[in-house]
Amino acid sequence: MLKRDDNRRGWRPATELVHGGTMRSNFGEVSEAMFLTQGYVYATAEQAEARFKGEEPGFIYSRYSNPTTRMFEERMMLLEGAEDARSTASGMAAVSTALQCQLQAGDHVVSARALFGSCRYVVETVLGRMGVTSTFVDGRNLDEWQAAVRPNTKVFFMETPTNPTLELIDIAAVAEIAHQAGARLVVDNVFATPLFQHPLELGADVVVYSATKHIDGQGRCLGGVVLSSKDWIDENLHDYYRHTGPAMSPFNAWTLLKGLETLPLRVKQATASAARIADYLADHPKIARVFYPGRDDHPDAAVAKKQMTGGSTLIAFEMKGGKREAFAFANGLELVLLTNNLGDAKTLTTHPATTTHKNLSQEARDQLGISDGLMRLSVGIEDTDDILEDIEGALKRV
Ligand SMILES: *Cc1c(COP(=O)(O)O)cnc(C)c1O
Repeated sequence: MLKRDDNRRGWRPATELVHGGTMRSNFGEVSEAMFLTQGYVYATAEQAEARFKGEEPGFIYSRYSNPTTRMFEERMMLLEGAEDARSTASGMAAVSTALQCQLQAGDHVVSARALFGSCRYVVETVLGRMGVTSTFVDGRNLDEWQAAVRPNTKVFFMETPTNPTLELIDIAAVAEIAHQAGARLVVDNVFATPLFQHPLELGADVVVYSATKHIDGQGRCLGGVVLSSKDWIDENLHDYYRHTGPAMSPFNAWTLLKGLETLPLRVKQATASAARIADYLADHPKIARVFYPGRDDHPDAAVAKKQMTGGSTLIAFEMKGGKREAFAFANGLELVLLTNNLGDAKTLTTHPATTTHKNLSQEARDQLGISDGLMRLSVGIEDTDDILEDIEGALKRV
């Protein structure tokens, strides 16, 4: 039998991230157990019947739920202040599940246009194929959200800070417009991390994460999670999740539980380094502009102050010159790795215009500020001076 470790409550987040949601087997293991099982044996036929009727708590099948994935969900719920959650195989499984489970043909979605590329594909193409129409707006402009509302608008969708230019959108203000329109707000909170921004407290109805990013934080596995109220999950997600099968593997849930234990240490260290690096870049003569949510010169600094409790582990900056200079910088790095992932212990950089955002039209890239000189830097947990020296050396060689 599993015993829930819940004799104390009200711990601070860093403590919940080490202990929260733990269920122990009769062996009394210290570390969370990894339950690599598809199914569960019932003691009697009556017990099987009671489980299927929902009259007895317990596990039925790992596509529905599994002790290790449930521990991950419960730890995330504690961190997010959510009543319930479902873990998914990837961040995109979380996004597409959170949207599709509550939409049907004839519905309309309003979405910020600054989106992770695959999210845009889901909203525009996948939902479009289902007969769900969508309108893309400049998320920073509240009038555009309001003007996009139609009688059949069911969902508002956004991420903030956005990828890659770290624009900020006022979650509370957009939630209010959504609710007046009778729609629900879904927020992809990957860039802020669950430490620095709590969309549910700000009025969002559903929060989604790619756990692949800061939550794993060590480049090992994919994962995602959808968090909301118990009512929303019961009404929209519970059956959809069971029958469509986006479930997370128990192995990945175990890895991510370990990631959560060290999340605050990693994110705080990386954010402190990022703030220093952003200041350094802002003063550098070869750099035209720096976008960093913790700096006062960020165009949406007021929104950052209002809804974020920390800066970011990500920085975007524009090289003077353009693609040639950006490539020269990228090729001159020795420590910082060239890759499109983010939120890792290792410092990573990417050139969005030719990689993650290459499928957008020039016009769409211009609208989003993704110029040919733009670089995105995901700061890791190496010694800050080593990261700075590497960047300094690469800039010298440009
Ligand atoms: C990475 C990412 C996703 C997708 O997550 P995967 O785990 O790669 O499927 C979705 N949204 C944002 C903002 C991301 O950064």
